[in-house]
Amino acid sequence: MDAARRLDLLTSKPGPTDEWLAGCAGLICRIGDTPLVRLKRIAEGVLAPNVELWAKLEWFNPGGSVKDRAAAGIILDAERRGLLRPGMIILDSSSGNTGIAYAMVGAARGYKVKLCLPANANTERKRILSAYGVDVVFTDPLEGSDGAILKAREIAASNPELYFYCDQYSNEANWKAHFHSTGPEIWRDTGGRITHFVATLGTSGTFMGTSRYLKARNRDVHCTTVEPDSPFHGLEGLKHMETAIVPPIYQPDGLADLALGAPTEESLVLVRRLAREEGLLAGISSGAALWAAIEVAKTLTQGVVVTIFPDGGNRYLSEPHVWEG
Ligand code: PMP
Repeated sequence: MDAARRLDLLTSKPGPTDEWLAGCAGLICRIGDTPLVRLKRIAEGVLAPNVELWAKLEWFNPGGSVKDRAAAGIILDAERRGLLRPGMIILDSSSGNTGIAYAMVGAARGYKVKLCLPANANTERKRILSAYGVDVVFTDPLEGSDGAILKAREIAASNPELYFYCDQYSNEANWKAHFHSTGPEIWRDTGGRITHFVATLGTSGTFMGTSRYLKARNRDVHCTTVEPDSPFHGLEGLKHMETAIVPPIYQPDGLADLALGAPTEESLVLVRRLAREEGLLAGISSGAALWAAIEVAKTLTQGVVVTIFPDGGNRYLSEPHVWEG
């Protein structure tokens, strides 16, 4: 990109909105503005020459994942509305990344954090949460993220004065964080050229907020959701909506133009290829996002396809099946 174009992008195109920047102080203002990189080698020979494939690297956030945005959004919103006050404990359920993000933002703003986590969460997540001093309640692995949700609800109801229950699955501040940051950043960094957006579904906050923003800028931006292709999958952090408790913030009508189910094995192959061919040490769900982005991009003769890589591979180093093959 030449210098003049770069300057134009930085100065005249919308970036994170004022509402997002208003909450910025100290560590929290380092959340967002993650790099958008073009994937050239993986696209070579598979995509038409005029089709560009881009990924937003969310592990560049200070807490190491896309969930920093939602956690900061939820906590700042609760403070503004007087729902979270000094002395209260931040409580939620999480498959790991949101918990780490609450831990980071909570510590930075002076709150204790309690988290319900399926007991089969991987070693890295457990160690990081313990390093941040989070009080973790382990739930039945067979019940997955839904078991953790039910436990968090029970604890919240036991002492509503003590706990601020974030409820990331229902909290509008989750998707709004992406409406005010992820969406504007993608619009700015593609110079408004984005034609297709692809995002994985956990709480759906990333997809809902970013798609809403992009469609508000240009209603022709085509948006695709990505979930696991079966209830028994290895795509950590993602939800198989048909068989899970559907997050109340997930309202795809009018936003999702296409829904794809990503296969675990093919996603893992792509995680390894990202590391070895693009130099990107990405997490498992990034493989699913990439699988779907390629499926979309393959159908085009021209376009700018953007996806989100939610976290980095160093959160999965203890899982040999991800890297060997
Ligand atoms: N990938 C990973 C690794 C995650 O932890 C999450 C959040 N659970 C997602 C993707 C999906 O993000 P969202 O909750 O915004 O849908």
